[in-house]
Amino acid sequence: MNRRKVTALCLAVLMLAGCSGKESQQANAETESSVSQSVSPTPTPEPEPEVYQVSFSATGDNLIHDVLYRQAQRRAGGSGYDFSFCYDNLREFYGGYDLNWINQETLVTDTLEPSSYPCFSTPGQMGRDLYDLGMRAFSLSNNHTYDQGARGIADTLAYWNGMPEDVTFSGLYNEEMENEGVVLRQQDGITFAFLSYTEYTNGIPTPSSAEAHVIYTSETERIQSQVELAAELSDFVIVSCHWGVEDSHQITNGQRQLAQQLADWGADLIIGTHPHVIQDAQWLTAQDGRQAFVAYSLGNSLSAQARPDEMVGLILTVKFEKTLRPDDSQTLGMSEPKLVPLVNHYDAGYSNIRLYLLEDYPEDLARQHGIRANYPEFDRTYIQNLLTENVQAEFLQAA
Ligand SMILES: [Zn+2]
Repeated sequence: MNRRKVTALCLAVLMLAGCSGKESQQANAETESSVSQSVSPTPTPEPEPEVYQVSFSATGDNLIHDVLYRQAQRRAGGSGYDFSFCYDNLREFYGGYDLNWINQETLVTDTLEPSSYPCFSTPGQMGRDLYDLGMRAFSLSNNHTYDQGARGIADTLAYWNGMPEDVTFSGLYNEEMENEGVVLRQQDGITFAFLSYTEYTNGIPTPSSAEAHVIYTSETERIQSQVELAAELSDFVIVSCHWGVEDSHQITNGQRQLAQQLADWGADLIIGTHPHVIQDAQWLTAQDGRQAFVAYSLGNSLSAQARPDEMVGLILTVKFEKTLRPDDSQTLGMSEPKLVPLVNHYDAGYSNIRLYLLEDYPEDLARQHGIRANYPEFDRTYIQNLLTENVQAEFLQAA
């Protein structure tokens, strides 16, 4: 990509010239070449390192209740579904990232009847609308993965396998998969590995005839083996864990312990989902000295849940960079992790459910949120307090 070549060139020039500003770079380059001319009549240009960058976002639980798919059906005018309205306010935001990831909490298929809590099934238009929104990486491993038994697994795998080639999904495993089930994705010169695990499947055991299964967070030997292989095969390992306690901002010891283990085994970014509410994030130092980052819970994306704290989610954003030098050595870096607050809004009676970035969510709209029928304290101040009480300021994107 031109932008990256320009970046690489700038970095090379900066390293040679040790200064910033285009004119002074040229001036210095001229000085250097005249100096080197006096030493050697034919200077060979210094080979440039190649710099690859990927901006990444991760979004929490996309939890599709019946009220959501009924609204989408009405919006489509009687045939099919249209979920695009729910995400329209985030379209520009996601358009600014090279790779967008989401936890798809409910099974998406074109074949099963739609259904809601407690055993969800979501119309296939959802995945296509998320694709149009810019989502390319999907986690399918969570407490609802077994909601529709073996048929649900078979149908959702067929659905995701039928999506465009640039879709990556992880979280359903079987013994036939290459690379022990580690999902690899090339993105703008960087190789990513994706793995997804869940703590629970709501007490539903793995269906005996299932063609694929989840891996539970308790299966640490299996996870260690996958993460170590992922680290060998990729530049960056992204692991999602559907873990923790629902409606709790408290990070459990189990979450902390597994996050550190994942980092030690080779994970770079750990994305936590499931509590439906936000939790804090932190840098971790792995055994080999690498820095890994964990966001313990991103909270919800779209949902028709009923509690104020379930209306506030976080989008994790981070930058990945790989510098490849002419001598084949490389440097990898992950930087600027941020948590961008998001609001799931509905009008009275759960109508017109849709998402906003908090920075685009005005106080007068907050005061019309349908949730205020039961929780009149919900407003922008409530949201800001919730954020500052639970997320370190250094990671929180102000809004
Ligand atoms: Zn869940």
